[in-house]
Amino acid sequence: MPNINANAAIRRVLELIAIPGGSGAETKVSACIQKTLVSAGLPQSVFMVDTANRRSPIGGATGNLIVKLKGTKRAPRRLLMAHMDTVPLAVDSEPVRQGDWIRPKSSDTALGADNRAGCAVILTAILEMLKQNIDHPPLTLLFTVQEEVGLCGARHVTTGRLANPQLCFNWDGRDPASLVIGAVGATNVAVKIDGIASHAGVNPDDGVNAAIVASLALSELHENGWHGLVVKGSRQGTCNVGSVHGGSATNVVMPEVVLQAEARSHSSVFRDRIVREIHRAFERAIKRVRNTRSQSGRLTIKDDSRYNAFRISPKADCVRMAAGAVKMAGLLPQTVVSNGGLDANWTTAHGFPTVTLGCGQHAIHTVKERLNIPEYLSACSIALSIATAE
Ligand SMILES: [Zn+2]
Repeated sequence: MPNINANAAIRRVLELIAIPGGSGAETKVSACIQKTLVSAGLPQSVFMVDTANRRSPIGGATGNLIVKLKGTKRAPRRLLMAHMDTVPLAVDSEPVRQGDWIRPKSSDTALGADNRAGCAVILTAILEMLKQNIDHPPLTLLFTVQEEVGLCGARHVTTGRLANPQLCFNWDGRDPASLVIGAVGATNVAVKIDGIASHAGVNPDDGVNAAIVASLALSELHENGWHGLVVKGSRQGTCNVGSVHGGSATNVVMPEVVLQAEARSHSSVFRDRIVREIHRAFERAIKRVRNTRSQSGRLTIKDDSRYNAFRISPKADCVRMAAGAVKMAGLLPQTVVSNGGLDANWTTAHGFPTVTLGCGQHAIHTVKERLNIPEYLSACSIALSIATAE
């Protein structure tokens, strides 16, 4: 097992966590990573920033940071990646060390170890590799933007700049011994119901209340088992209506309701089925609510397939190499699938099957978020093995 300088690794993650950088505002994080690698002796010419942010719906200040290193031995190129952004709750985080843990100083913020710990793990592996002169294959480092807002950086990465890596490894928020080999796909469904406004006291029967349409559709989804955890025979997925907005006064028959829903499944066929059931429920409901002139409201539904489910073989080369590195660190590797989307959904879809490992982050996206230091240091050692192993 290669050695790492634990104090330097801890200082590095504290420095990265303290940088504010939500999705679309990753410039300072990217600059810190570049500065650290330059002071370790890498020339400016190894860095490039792509234009993924220009293809993202939120825009954003910078693109993905791609770093290409020549190998000191001939072997297939490896990709090491992590996202740079944090959730909004972590943007003002001030990290403090407490025994074996790093926590946010304030009880009002998350920590942001998701995913600055991922960035620190990769940086530590590369710095130790250079300092200790360990032979390595050609490496590509990919620090993505906008993971937390729908995997936009990985989705729009300039794949031609990755130099065709054969073995791909992603670090994100969980424990260092779990190897994520698959994740769900997700589709967002935006529903707009245009009812018909009328005076609620004078002529309510001229109106079509959009809230009634929405409630009929939602109760049907609920009654028929298409909302919440959806299990139909051996097929499984989830459906959630996450927001409902409409109306402004009690004396107006509600003219408009806008709903945002999502469907997830490890099976893309079943995810499409859930989406179809959402459509059908609203299509039936809109016909059931009519005014005295038999007019009904109007329905607009927009689907956005955010990312597709993926599954890589537990016997894939990258999984085997990751498992070997985890064992070398004295931990028991376990393959798992995730019910949340990962940058690996997109890199795998782009043709680069990617296994995802954690860095010891706990309770991510909450004010209870904390980083376990021994687990983080294990993740650093695992990353160094992965970057350099035969
Ligand atoms: Zn993350």
